[in-house]
Amino acid sequence: MPDWKTHLKVGLVFEIITLIIISGVLLYIKKIPTVTELFYIIPILVVSPLIPDIDHPTSKITDVLLLCGLVGLWIAYFFMQNLSMFFMVFITAVFIISRFIPHRGFTHSIWFIMIYSIGVGLLTTSPSIGIVGLVGAASHIHIDK
Ligand SMILES: [Zn+2]
Repeated sequence: MPDWKTHLKVGLVFEIITLIIISGVLLYIKKIPTVTELFYIIPILVVSPLIPDIDHPTSKITDVLLLCGLVGLWIAYFFMQNLSMFFMVFITAVFIISRFIPHRGFTHSIWFIMIYSIGVGLLTTSPSIGIVGLVGAASHIHIDK
């Protein structure tokens, strides 16, 4: 089975091709990317090819997401108390998924990819980034089999 570096490399190739196509279409219809889209694109490019392995307790993406959740919780505790609950729910969800969902089960299905990409599109308020997330996560499942 491919390791996380292979998933990331393959995912980035497909995502960047998708991004180039989407950028061409957006430039053709004269839509300029928003600051929000530019802010979110790098994390989505990196996370999406790895996100299906969130169901493994020792995967790289599980470690990274738990670390990001803890750092986010620490920052929220001091500066943005209203986000503390979000980070607590995030950390709990990542922990439960990584420990109790069987590996290569639901998170390696088309349903998870659909939910993930719709969530990314809604969170970033950008359907383009949702499509890039979909391609990245789909590349993971494609080379995992
Ligand atoms: Zn996998």
